[in-house]
Amino acid sequence: MHCPYCRHTDSRVVDTRAADDGGSIRRRRQCSKCNSRFTTVESTSLNVIKRSGTSEPFSRAKVISGVRKACHGRPVTEDDLAQLAQLVEENIRLSGSAEVDAHDIGLAILAPLRELDVVAYLRFASVYQSFNSLEDFEASIAELRTLASEPLES
Ligand SMILES: [Zn+2]
Repeated sequence: MHCPYCRHTDSRVVDTRAADDGGSIRRRRQCSKCNSRFTTVESTSLNVIKRSGTSEPFSRAKVISGVRKACHGRPVTEDDLAQLAQLVEENIRLSGSAEVDAHDIGLAILAPLRELDVVAYLRFASVYQSFNSLEDFEASIAELRTLASEPLES
């Protein structure tokens, strides 16, 4: 990264901020030769590989639309959905990978959705994990009961 004023290659970072809800990082730099200040933006792309093998950019809107159906009639607000989608994106980005399987996004949705609303979670999981028998529901509900009886993490 060279200085846009004098092309010197050495600069120091004077300020770092997350921008775009954590999707990119903005750094304020100062050239160590001419002392000019300039800003750089680093963003990492995140692509989703679909079952068909094609890929597309990760989209929070798609996470939200996928979860919204499961939340129909439940006390879940648009803000809740937006927060959930942000959490899902942050968790996926933590893995450090630039590409993620569509299936893994479904997995990343399950835990925060369970925190948000257990009924919506069961609906989503039933489609996503293709529950096809009463036993599948019972197993999942038993798991929820176990979780509910554990002390909450602070
Ligand atoms: Zn310079």
